[in-house]
Amino acid sequence: MYKKRHLNIGSEKIKEYFPTDYVINKLLGLYEYLFAIKFEKVNIPVWHKDVQAFAVRDNGEFIGYSYIDAVPREGKYTHAECDDIITYIENPDATKQLPVAVLISNASLPGNGVPSLLSVEELGTLLHESGHAMNFIFNRFPYAGLTSDWDCQNTQFRE
Ligand SMILES: [Zn+2]
Repeated sequence: MYKKRHLNIGSEKIKEYFPTDYVINKLLGLYEYLFAIKFEKVNIPVWHKDVQAFAVRDNGEFIGYSYIDAVPREGKYTHAECDDIITYIENPDATKQLPVAVLISNASLPGNGVPSLLSVEELGTLLHESGHAMNFIFNRFPYAGLTSDWDCQNTQFRE
C-alpha cells in the first residue's frame, strides 16, 4: 500500500525484477558462496519438463540431489514447500543413504514473451523453502525421520 501510494510502484512492477529462473540461479550461487559447495545441473529423470535437478557437491564429493520445481502448472500444488523425499541415513554397515530434497514453489506462468516472475511474497517463500532444502542436504543426523521440519526459525533467517 505504501509503495503504491507514495512511490507509485505496484506489485506487478516489482515482480519484473524477480524472474524465477534468475532468482533461482542467484540463490544457488549464493549458497555455493556461503557453503563452498557446487550445484551441478544433471540430466536425470524428472516428473515435468520445468523441473530442474542438481547434484550437490562439497569439495567434489557428491552429498545429495536437489530438485527445483518452481513454475506453476495444471494439477500442481499451489503452495510452496520443501520435502526430503530421501533422507540421509547411516546404515549399520557404514554405507550412507544420501539425501534428496525437493523444493516446490509457484510463481506466475511464463507467456507472451514474459518469463515466470516472483512477487515479493513468493520470493520470501522461495528463500524460506530453499533454507529447508539446504538443511535436508546438509543433515548428517544418522537416523531417518528425526530432522523433518523443526527448524523454521533457522530457515526464516534466509528470508
Ligand atoms: Zn519452514
